[in-house]
Amino acid sequence: MDRQGKIMKTFRKELWFDIKQRRELINITPQVDNCIKESGIKEGLCLVNAMHISASVFINDDESGLHHDFEIWLEKLAPEKPHKQYRHNGFEDNADAHLKRTIMGREVTVAITNGSLDFGPWEQIFYGEFDGKRRKRVLVKIIGE
Ligand code: ZN
Repeated sequence: MDRQGKIMKTFRKELWFDIKQRRELINITPQVDNCIKESGIKEGLCLVNAMHISASVFINDDESGLHHDFEIWLEKLAPEKPHKQYRHNGFEDNADAHLKRTIMGREVTVAITNGSLDFGPWEQIFYGEFDGKRRKRVLVKIIGE
């Protein structure tokens, strides 16, 4: 309860993904929007984070050319193959996914104003999968009133 007598609300939800390929970028803005509606919070902050160290949550433009450019750029920085170029890849083969995740980021925080995500122009929230073919999740935590 704050000085004006309002009670701060909290909301938590996990969004699950089962990407059929190793890498994919998915616009998850509609799912995050649904969380805000479900929470009933009108003014506050929304945290969205990947719960895996081989996946990202980031904000950028929903434009297919740019998504292709991300794939090419990330493959230059941390090529998936040959797997044996990475010391991490003994037992696993996902060193490139850890590196891609690090550069694309773990989470985003977006302001909520009047019950909506308070974005800049063209901003959308993406889940970046870099080691898919299994069920993985994203945490949405919203606080406010
Ligand atoms: Zn690993």
